[in-house]
Amino acid sequence: MIKPEILAPAGDMEKLKTAFRYGADACYMGVKSMSMRVKIDDKGGDALEEALKLKNKLNKKIYLTMNIHAHENKLAFLDKELERLTKLHKKGLDPDGILVSDVGILNLIREQCPWLPIHVSTQANTLNSSAIEFWEKQGAERVVLGREVSLHELRQIRDKLSKKGIDVEIEGFVHGAMCMAYSGRCLLSNFMANRDANEGMCAHSCRWKYKVYLEEELRPGEFVPMEEDPQGTSLMSSKDMCMIEHLGDLIDAQLDSLKLEGRHKTVYYTAIVTRAYREALDLAMEGKSPTPEILDLIDSINTRGYFTGFWYGRPGAEGQLYNKCSNANEQYCFAGIIRKADKKTVTMEVRNRLDKGDRLDIITPDKTIPVILDEFRDAETGEQIGHASGGQGFSITFDVPEGLEEGFVVRKHLQSSRTKVKIKTEKIRKLTNH
Ligand code: SF4
Repeated sequence: MIKPEILAPAGDMEKLKTAFRYGADACYMGVKSMSMRVKIDDKGGDALEEALKLKNKLNKKIYLTMNIHAHENKLAFLDKELERLTKLHKKGLDPDGILVSDVGILNLIREQCPWLPIHVSTQANTLNSSAIEFWEKQGAERVVLGREVSLHELRQIRDKLSKKGIDVEIEGFVHGAMCMAYSGRCLLSNFMANRDANEGMCAHSCRWKYKVYLEEELRPGEFVPMEEDPQGTSLMSSKDMCMIEHLGDLIDAQLDSLKLEGRHKTVYYTAIVTRAYREALDLAMEGKSPTPEILDLIDSINTRGYFTGFWYGRPGAEGQLYNKCSNANEQYCFAGIIRKADKKTVTMEVRNRLDKGDRLDIITPDKTIPVILDEFRDAETGEQIGHASGGQGFSITFDVPEGLEEGFVVRKHLQSSRTKVKIKTEKIRKLTNH
């Protein structure tokens, strides 16, 4: 049985370090101007070098995304990035794969950096074995499936490839936001917000609140609302994918890489989702289900509600969140991140308002340590305070029950006696098992 890797998003250096710390085998990250999630890619020249050195030191992997469909003027940027990768190559620093979807970009990489392993991005919308065979002939070592592929199809794909003796790694998304189009192939955001989804600037316009009216032909200007709701209705509002309870099925179907979406999300999200999937995968390899603690973790981030995407067939209304736009978590919020740890005292950068008596959980890579915030001090002045507001790098110090490390994230309970929210990832088998 092959153990798949946990592949986490890394929107910046802090998230990269966090993902590795919390158990990711590999991370994917953007390079300037050439990837989705362009807003958060590294701004300087050294971040990539630092990242590659780090992954070599930790014996982990980094895949770089160059997965936009490039207009002609982007090719000059591509040349610069390939020059940069060539310089790093000469220093013995190489990424473990380059994610591409545009055949023009693939062509230039093969010409200028033939040593780089090619991974075909989900933006290429690969849905069948013949497409994978095609990509293998183009030199691809790995293909990321479109999120629209079901488990049944994955098994068929694996079967056909193995009969033909084609050995290509297959990566698939197992967690995170869904796109209402074939991943990113949509101009809604371009038209409504002048932000190009293909270039990583999607404003998620599909999830905005829309008000829908009927206008009878002979009564222009007399609009009849289709549905009464104070906030309108969300017509194209997908829930988030979550396969944490079904990793056994993905292992059986020989998925090589379990990809977690969310380079744009917080370091708190990165830490929690990576740890949850790391632990769930280790258990799944022993035939065990995720523990309640793991499910609680995955329920403690902001989410639009969970479903299993297309893995068990085409989702219908179960995959939509028609009546709610917000994804705020009602049980927990991101309290802060530990910046300094000294024996049993920590300094934490505050990310949300904290008050005396708040219940916190320090999330380490392998356990959750509860703390009541009885006494805390302004980290700069040492003065004891009763509340702290998040933002602008404000930090507090407080005592903890055991020695910790910097970089751990902390969550705050929002309710004193909360009812546990059950994870909602029922398999969607209703329509077709295509
Ligand atoms: S607006 Fe929605 S459907 Fe369009 S690219 Fe963005 S997430 Fe996808």
